[in-house]
Amino acid sequence: MALQFYNTATRSKEPFTLPEGVPAVRIYCCGPTVYHFAHIGNLRTYIFEDFLRRTLEYYGFAVNHVVNITDVGHLTSDGDDGDDKMEKGALRTGKTVWEVADYYTQTFMKDWKALNIIEPSIWCKATDHIQQQIQLVKTLEEKGYTYRTSDGIYFDSAKFPRYPDFAHLDVENLQQGSRIEMGEKRSATDFALWKFSPKDQKRAMEWDSPWGIGFPGWHIECSAMAMHHLGETLDIHCGGSDHIRVHHTNEIAQSECATGKPFARFWMHGEFLRMGSDKMSKSAGEFLTVSLLQEKGFNPLDYRLFALTSHYRNYLNFTWEALENARESLKSLHKKTDVLIGKADLIQSELALRFKNEFQEAIGDDLNMPKALGILNSMLKENLEESEKAALVLDFDRVLGLNLGSIREEYAPKQENVDVFKIDALISLRNEARKNKNWAESDRIRDELKSMNITIKDGPNGTEWSL
Ligand SMILES: [Zn+2]
Repeated sequence: MALQFYNTATRSKEPFTLPEGVPAVRIYCCGPTVYHFAHIGNLRTYIFEDFLRRTLEYYGFAVNHVVNITDVGHLTSDGDDGDDKMEKGALRTGKTVWEVADYYTQTFMKDWKALNIIEPSIWCKATDHIQQQIQLVKTLEEKGYTYRTSDGIYFDSAKFPRYPDFAHLDVENLQQGSRIEMGEKRSATDFALWKFSPKDQKRAMEWDSPWGIGFPGWHIECSAMAMHHLGETLDIHCGGSDHIRVHHTNEIAQSECATGKPFARFWMHGEFLRMGSDKMSKSAGEFLTVSLLQEKGFNPLDYRLFALTSHYRNYLNFTWEALENARESLKSLHKKTDVLIGKADLIQSELALRFKNEFQEAIGDDLNMPKALGILNSMLKENLEESEKAALVLDFDRVLGLNLGSIREEYAPKQENVDVFKIDALISLRNEARKNKNWAESDRIRDELKSMNITIKDGPNGTEWSL
């Protein structure tokens, strides 16, 4: 059965196969910047990538799946200005940037688990790959693709004539629109490969380089790590649709100029989750996290099912009511599948095999998950042997990932993803109480932190906490 994916690079569906001699699909997915909790809108992208990975495995491919963790501050916008996200996160919480990165990396991985997203073959941290990033910038410099300004080393996009092609950019228009913010850049589409630390200020994260002390630009990390772990050409590169215009365009430019080879054979992009008609962002409205859903009594898999109801290339509108509907659908699915647990046997009747084929065709047609879900529901209504129904449920769930092979656990609200603000506020209240020798209050706060699974330790540098 043919497997085909929509390739952003060609704006068309193309059959997917592996080149001769490549043993496993080389997939790179842009990961989170770990300065805050992950928003469920961002998590929608990782759920889509999980369907992709599971579909490839369903089709018999081995998969080498790499996801990065951006733990070095990239700037607050796609451009090269603005504050550093990691340092902002550190300021906000009173922690060091390393602690902030560590804390949010852990909560991010917890969200993945809760959403039943299969762990990548490799998680890679930007700060563990500084040398590879420096090396890549050096290669670009040697080949004449860079120039120096007072604040960094920049990629000269005019030297890569194909630069506008991927995102269908109108460079002239861009140029006119951004004349004021260009600074020393030669062109609006040039971007920083390496930034110098400000002369009068020591940054929390900075490294030595052939160009002086500083830190890598955001875009370079993905190219450097993807090539380090997967080779110069990837089979599939994924991300959110907001990455097309700048981040992925820049990744293509710097990678292809460095190697002279195509960077990725397929580019796949997940569309946004929207609240009403706006793109939900971290800067506006209610900040929706997995732990907020849990606090409101949802099982994270309700959200996973919700994500299945829309094709990954379409917007998905989030409302609490829609999520409640997803919860009811998942409950009713479980009502039908829980009674089948332990009964699976061979899939052999003509009707059962037809369902299996239809399912495989749906997921293989650019991940048509809404259709695949419909096939599961129709199958459950059919007059099939229970043993075949049970086997088909397990088979389909390899891709759907809804845990239909085990009894649905009603979700008991937990508060594991405690907010670091709250912890810090409690710790300073406790310090205040200790200063006033109010031991009863200080013990009460210690117990409250304990009930949040937070252990605290008083030392010469103040109070430290850990999960
Ligand atoms: Zn990336």
